[in-house]
Amino acid sequence: MKCTLCQAQAIYKSPYSGQLFCARCFKRNVEGRVRATINHHKLFEPNDHILIAVSGGKDSLVLLNILYKLEARRPGVKLTALTIDEGVAGYRGHGLRVAEEAAKRLGVEHHVASFKEYYGYTLDEIYDMAVKKRVGLHACTFCGVLRRRLINVKARELGATKVATGHNLDDEAQTALINLLRGTVSRLARLGPKPPRMWEGFVPRVKPLRYIPEREVALYAYLSGFELYEEECRYVRASLRDEIRYMLNKLESKHPGMKYAVVRAVDRLAPLIEREVDVKVKPCRYCGEPTARDICRACEVLEQLGIKG
Ligand code: SF4
Ligand code: ZN
Repeated sequence: MKCTLCQAQAIYKSPYSGQLFCARCFKRNVEGRVRATINHHKLFEPNDHILIAVSGGKDSLVLLNILYKLEARRPGVKLTALTIDEGVAGYRGHGLRVAEEAAKRLGVEHHVASFKEYYGYTLDEIYDMAVKKRVGLHACTFCGVLRRRLINVKARELGATKVATGHNLDDEAQTALINLLRGTVSRLARLGPKPPRMWEGFVPRVKPLRYIPEREVALYAYLSGFELYEEECRYVRASLRDEIRYMLNKLESKHPGMKYAVVRAVDRLAPLIEREVDVKVKPCRYCGEPTARDICRACEVLEQLGIKG
């Protein structure tokens, strides 16, 4: 089988277009689609300082490398990488090293921010306290809420104007369905492709890999020879997301393009919902971070443990 574009040996057939790709054309095609996403949705502006969240996993390494190719040489643009160390014993260490080396290879400044340093406790310690105090929240809830806050704080501290994360098409389609199934429709407003409205104190987030399916991100990472880090966090659990992932993968194999259709539907719905919901953001009463509520979610979960956010 030959690559449709250059006649070299093909290694991948797109289930959507039926096109055959050799390794080089496949990578160029992915980069071209990311470039199209950035341009079409105006994800970046001249002079942006882009903080890339790099966990050391495949999505974040692909994001770092593609943004480096597409953005690093644009005048005025600055790239910085950030890794969050949640403090899960035996888990994040390897990812941290992979992220550090990947950034160093490209000459991108790399920072690490840890829960321990910022909140005073590792995630292990926080979750231990939650179990002892019988707070019925899972480790992943603390992790997600506290990670989001720390990324925003760090982005402001470093003077970043955008935060880029490695969410891919599968992540986005799953999140959209989770919100629909839970009835949290207003959250779809935040899932749109454009950087959200500029709130005071909130650094806008963008997802340049939003239209790239997970398997294509994985293939790009493999073909690029990235050192992959797929250790599993001990708190990983069977979740609604896993069930939706399974269901979407099954549907996608029968009806290629379904994940893409879900994400495109969100693209159209998000601006309508945003207009409808009209969120007002104000400083959290405890910590001053921007929130749509009186007390931000991070302070709320920490308060249950008797920790001041
Ligand atoms: Fe955090 Fe849960 Fe992921 Fe572990 S599995 S890194 S606790 S979100
Ligand atoms: Zn707060």
